[in-house]
Amino acid sequence: MALVTKSIKGTQDTLPSESYKIQFVEQSVLEIAKNYGYKEIRVPVFEHTELFQRGVGDTTDVVQKEMYTFEDKGGRSITLRPEGTAGVVRSYIEHGLFNEAQPQKVCYLISCYRYEKPQAGRLREFHQFGCECFGTASPAADAELISLVNDIFAFLDVKNLKIQINSIGCPECRKNYHKALQEYFESKKDELCGTCLGRLERNPMRILDCKSPVCSEIAKDAPKVTDYLCDECHDHFQKVQQYLDAMNIPYEVNPSIVRGLDYYTKTVFEFVSTEIGAQGTVCGGGRYDGLVEEIGGNHTPALGFAMGMERLLLLMQAQGIEFPPEAKCDLYIASMGENATLKASQIASDVRGNGMHAQFDIVGRSVKAQMKYANKIGAAYTVVLGDSEIEAGVAKVKNMADGSETEMKIDDIAEEIMRLSINDSLKGFEVEGLDISTLM
Ligand code: ATP
Ligand code: MG
Repeated sequence: MALVTKSIKGTQDTLPSESYKIQFVEQSVLEIAKNYGYKEIRVPVFEHTELFQRGVGDTTDVVQKEMYTFEDKGGRSITLRPEGTAGVVRSYIEHGLFNEAQPQKVCYLISCYRYEKPQAGRLREFHQFGCECFGTASPAADAELISLVNDIFAFLDVKNLKIQINSIGCPECRKNYHKALQEYFESKKDELCGTCLGRLERNPMRILDCKSPVCSEIAKDAPKVTDYLCDECHDHFQKVQQYLDAMNIPYEVNPSIVRGLDYYTKTVFEFVSTEIGAQGTVCGGGRYDGLVEEIGGNHTPALGFAMGMERLLLLMQAQGIEFPPEAKCDLYIASMGENATLKASQIASDVRGNGMHAQFDIVGRSVKAQMKYANKIGAAYTVVLGDSEIEAGVAKVKNMADGSETEMKIDDIAEEIMRLSINDSLKGFEVEGLDISTLM
């Protein structure tokens, strides 16, 4: 196939026949986040490269190997966002959102870019839903955030996800932990990959997140961070667990979770599935109390998560979860001749004016071909207009589900369609003690 008609490796299209699924998921996550007080924020696709070097951490895989970085025509180093948090933190500082009511809760639906080896659940352009909560150090906030993610999966009917939590401490308690890790990995130095050798000095915790099989095998027996927490971090982690227990949210403590980005402190968590292959982490997040300051703002405790939309959809498909069916065309108006087509355009615009979906012939096809099209798009009702119908001012509207026909005044069609559609959508929807006809 010619180059220009082939998408770039690691990217994918969402076709019109499939888009209702992602639209449903996007609407659902925004709605649930809204119930927790999150408002949408929109930030640019690209930022100064330095923001991600500082915000994501320059010893991470993301910064060292995966960023789409280029020089623009003005000679600036620009990077396509590999994740959402850094840009949102930049915006929080730049626009003084710390002056608004705290905690400041924001959410986003974004595309992200990472130069990774494409495979199921791992793309070069992928999409995230994320939430960030600024201005609270309380463990109640950590638990509330986990509860929000849990609510999203429950609402979407996604099952069998394990919630794994850990605490990776604060810079204070991490000093001792780093020392212990350095000692441990020093003795295995000969086996570590080149990247991890470099990490040994600067950031040994990153070795725990290395995807190379040898390094991850060695990492299994490394000292556990939870044994090195200072009193405050230990206490914080205990309280997060108490809140989760109080909210009846099941979880496991997994001391090997460190997350792929450098900015985390204290609580980190993942929602993991075993049903979509090796890329099983559908959502990851945690607390990042040092990040706002690192990027140039005042010290601001904060936390957040990001959920991979492609992995979520893979999982929903694997579990056979049904999406609410797409809204169909309410009325297709077939027409014969120019006069009838003019009238059809008028009826269509009246139906749409009532907030409903109508189509008429904008191709100039035969009535037979128009009806074939109406069938293909799944029109609920159809009507055929010719000169005789226009003259009489009356036409037969056909219910495509049962084939029944109702004669109507042409000028009443838009209103009648609305009544019929409401009637259809209430069918089979019975509420005890409620007479539906009284609603109409
Ligand atoms: P992984 O360990 O799988 O590489 P990560 O730690 O790099 O994930 P985060 O940076 O925390 O991931 O991103 C949050 C979520 O975004 C992940 O849990 C995952 O669902 C999704 N995600 C990350 N990278 C990709 C990718 N290349 N393709 C698709 N989804 C991704
Ligand atoms: Mg990764």
